[in-house]
Amino acid sequence: MVNNKIAEAEENLLHVYNRFPIILDHGEDVYLYDAEGKKYLDFAAGIAVCGLGYSNKELKDALKKQIDLLCHTSNLYFHESCGEAAKKLNEISGMDRVFFTNSGTEAIEGALKSARKYAYTKESGRYEIIAMQNSFHGRSIGAVSVTGTEHYRTPFEPLLPGVKFAEYNNLESVKALVNDKTCAIILEPLQGEGGIYPATKEFMEGIRELCSKNDILMICDEIQCGMARTGYMFAWQEYNIKPDIMTMAKAIGNGIPVGAFAMTEEVAKYSMEAGDHGSTYGGNPLACTAVKTVIDIFQKEQIVDHVKEMGEYLSICLEKLVQKYDFVKECRGKGLIQGIELTKPAGDIITKAHEAGLLIITAKGNTIRFVPPLIITKEQIDEMIEKLEIAFAK
Ligand SMILES: *Cc1c(COP(=O)(O)O)cnc(C)c1O
Repeated sequence: MVNNKIAEAEENLLHVYNRFPIILDHGEDVYLYDAEGKKYLDFAAGIAVCGLGYSNKELKDALKKQIDLLCHTSNLYFHESCGEAAKKLNEISGMDRVFFTNSGTEAIEGALKSARKYAYTKESGRYEIIAMQNSFHGRSIGAVSVTGTEHYRTPFEPLLPGVKFAEYNNLESVKALVNDKTCAIILEPLQGEGGIYPATKEFMEGIRELCSKNDILMICDEIQCGMARTGYMFAWQEYNIKPDIMTMAKAIGNGIPVGAFAMTEEVAKYSMEAGDHGSTYGGNPLACTAVKTVIDIFQKEQIVDHVKEMGEYLSICLEKLVQKYDFVKECRGKGLIQGIELTKPAGDIITKAHEAGLLIITAKGNTIRFVPPLIITKEQIDEMIEKLEIAFAK
């Protein structure tokens, strides 16, 4: 039955995803249920999206109400939710001006355009972008151009000119690429897809200094590591820095497709003006209702503090796995974005975990990535470890 339905779907879809043979049907708290009623503990959260899990009544009620009122207006008009979502997002991000997009990739596009426009207005002649090896920023031509992983890039070349790649966490390698044409440096404060690698303090602060000295814009991609994931509302807030531009998506809508890029007033002054950028759907009433309600709930329920506490517990549990199993090489990460690197194929473990009723995902290089809903409890972390050990033993 399931196989028939999957075969039918595959007949009409473009084959770009290696989907697992699971048809998910509904969610409850931090659990997902497939079409046959099998229950899964969810440590994937739709790739770090569903921070509040699947049963938040306040969010569901707000979205249902908005659907009944109005889903879309276009950006030719105002809607109350748009200003409210922007205000709240700026409050938690420390930025001054925000633009809503429909995805993370579009937020990256907007951030790159904003940086180029800043240099254009200032007539600085700067256009080069320094990005990081092993990074991931999305799938459009612009986003792929700053993504430092060959297999995402090669089939689509030639990509944007003027992009150079430095080694992540190697400040000297960044300095070596800076010249009087450098417009912006883009990085993830914690590389997610690339295998769960947090930036060092020296690296983040060194890049900030380098940027400030040379009027280069520092762009932080917070799409995966933002919204409390690392135990800070945004990952850069752990460091003694502030970016000039940042990108957000994934958890800001808890599953309603929405992203954003934001900048300081100092950048906005010289950057995008009326007519420079736009989006038909971007920041529509449904998306903005999601964003403002999600932020409200994060604040009320003190999600950041909860993530810090659960993250420490998860680290302890993962460290034990490193001690216990020869093939678990190391654990990395922060808060509720952590990973374990295996010396054998991670993909096999994922399939066995599914059988055991646990949804986990991989990141690059035989890394298992743990990005559960942020509301996860200690008991559920224990349950995850139990199921993972069943998968290990299979
Ligand atoms: C997921 C991701 C993106 C792309 O976001 P989409 O919503 O898939 O377009 C960009 N940057 C990072 C760090 C991501 O994790």
